[in-house]
Amino acid sequence: MRIRVENLTKRFGSFAAVDNVSFEVEDGSLVALLGPSGSGKSTLLRILAGLESSDSGSVWFDDEAATDLHARVRGVGFVFQHYALFRHLTVAQNIGFGLSVRGVDKDVIARKVKELLALTGLSGLEERFPSQLSGGQRQRVALARALAPEPKLLLLDEPFGAVDAKVREELRQWLRRLHDEVGVTSIFVTHDQEEAFAVADKVLVFHRGKVEQNGAPMDILDRPETEFVARFVGEVNVFPAKIAGDVASTGALSARISGNVPVGPAHLVIRAYDLKLWREDPGIATVQRVVTFGDRVRVQAEVDGAGPIVAFFPRRSSLLRGIEPGCRAQIEVTTARAYPAAGSSQLPAAIPG
Ligand code: ADP
Ligand code: MG
Repeated sequence: MRIRVENLTKRFGSFAAVDNVSFEVEDGSLVALLGPSGSGKSTLLRILAGLESSDSGSVWFDDEAATDLHARVRGVGFVFQHYALFRHLTVAQNIGFGLSVRGVDKDVIARKVKELLALTGLSGLEERFPSQLSGGQRQRVALARALAPEPKLLLLDEPFGAVDAKVREELRQWLRRLHDEVGVTSIFVTHDQEEAFAVADKVLVFHRGKVEQNGAPMDILDRPETEFVARFVGEVNVFPAKIAGDVASTGALSARISGNVPVGPAHLVIRAYDLKLWREDPGIATVQRVVTFGDRVRVQAEVDGAGPIVAFFPRRSSLLRGIEPGCRAQIEVTTARAYPAAGSSQLPAAIPG
């Protein structure tokens, strides 16, 4: 099923939690709604599910107006962050629940449950109760339960938010494979950028009830349209800068700008992995800190006349030779973007904070 959302607005009092949002989701695709807490993602998902009404705008399922359809007839499956499994029902009963309340024949349910147990890697656990499962297993049961009635649209709200990092990563790969197998149009909410990029075909970045950018993961990473998106995705350095032609400069640092060049006061945004830094005297900066995180090294330096800058390197990078606190360094920016300085209030903090 294809989803179309047009000029959707939802207010709580005078506050617009969803503010004139429009987008489309292709049939069979997996789309992530990515944004900070409070940006309106869950509200939007609840409107799509029919659990919440909108104040204006419309929702279309294929070419059918769905705005006023009751939740029960929308054919939507929903998975929440907190598994919300029925504690007194077994895994098999949980998965079959949506079918049994619809009065589906017992044998049909049994067959469907068996199929879903296999699909979600839960075979052998059908007689367990939720309390006898790990967090990751419970969330897979929740997903199997949502899939049992064969929804036309699957909505997942921070589905892996309550499980630990390692399991989370397994679940996200599993979700992608499951989606490729089942092919149901799916929208999932997350505030975790890695999760969105690892799993989704398209990512919609939300900010204060609006869609800041809608694109393929690589577009969002490499061509962030707004300063908010650039700062939200990955680790960035931000400097107030002067623009001349397509070059932005701040203190001793200058960088060619990719993409749009703003007019007037600008913010220069450089990803921590989009710059080279090596030992050189005099250079333009003094190295302050060098910290190793597993396979990456974080170098913080003070750029003459511009302030602190952070760069990430692979652990074995030859650029790191001789880099130590107190040494002088040269810097070359490989990719940078710039945005108008106006309208940049309430942005997420950039490194180094
Ligand atoms: P997200 O899922 O992106 O964290 P939500 O959609 O849950 O954001 O919330 C968006 C904003 O709307 C938040 O500021 C939240 O406090 C507000 N909000 C959500 N639901 C209600 C409600 N029922 N009543 C009042 N405010 C709400
Ligand atoms: Mg939410």
